Amino acid sequence: MIQRIAPHVYHNEYTPQPPQAEDIVFIFRDREIYALQDPEAGVSFPQIRALPGGLTQALEAYAAQTLIFLFRLDDRSCYLLRTWEEAQLPAGYSFENTFYLRRMNPQLMCFAGMTALHLAVWYRDNRFCGRCGHPTALHHIERALSCTDPACTNIIYPRISPAVIVGVTWGDRILVTRYRDRPYRGMSLVAGFCEIGEEAEQTVAREVLEETGVHVDHIRYYATQPWGFDGNLLLGYYCEAVDPEVIRPDGEELAVAEWIPRSEINTDGSVMTLNSAPADETNVTSLTLTMILHFRDHPEDFASDRAR
Ligand SMILES: [Zn+2]
Repeated sequence: MIQRIAPHVYHNEYTPQPPQAEDIVFIFRDREIYALQDPEAGVSFPQIRALPGGLTQALEAYAAQTLIFLFRLDDRSCYLLRTWEEAQLPAGYSFENTFYLRRMNPQLMCFAGMTALHLAVWYRDNRFCGRCGHPTALHHIERALSCTDPACTNIIYPRISPAVIVGVTWGDRILVTRYRDRPYRGMSLVAGFCEIGEEAEQTVAREVLEETGVHVDHIRYYATQPWGFDGNLLLGYYCEAVDPEVIRPDGEELAVAEWIPRSEINTDGSVMTLNSAPADETNVTSLTLTMILHFRDHPEDFASDRAR
């Protein structure tokens, strides 16, 4: 999965410090990331030294809080250039759609870009206090934003939206879905956001019922995945269909919802009989694919499911 970057280490402790020449700088334009895509070396991001003004420009931007510390990868710090003009950008890179990061190499850089995007969107959307409307500033100690109005004590922490990914099983079959009108054309599992006041297990049952008309039980946790592309923490669950025969795509969100036997699932997560996306469009780093392949490759983990 995209967050499994060992032997590299992601340090999310908030330890802001002035940039050094070989540190990494992330620059975004909406959902595009400033990157270099090399057919062999994969994706890379500029170092601080590549800024037209070099380390001097970086230190000035850091002092002005337009260049801010994000996190560390191994022994290198990563920064976000929050505001910029065209002339201040390193040469030789270009803005690329972050969508493609999910299937680029090296995975370390894809994870870093995804996580930087999550933080960049949060910083961008919280420039002003939602409680009183004054500007916000970096918190002195934590990864947070503080309201600059002394009369307002609002502190804003990074927002993570929990959502479930659901592997619904029925004997040797799993329920796969395909969304309409989305750039990702591969097979998916039922998914949806946790609503306020809901346990994740209740989200699982509600989303499956809403999207397919199927009731489920035997809901159990599998794994989680940070998914900064959409600001999520994904919670993976398996469960069993109680009434699999009633499957009914909701007609709005989903284009396809179908029971797929283990034997028809390819190693890239595509499905032989559904003419689904080829391997190069498959998200090889996702919890969804991990769960589809875990179901395919580990039938013993589903042996306790009711016989059908
Ligand atoms: Zn305020």
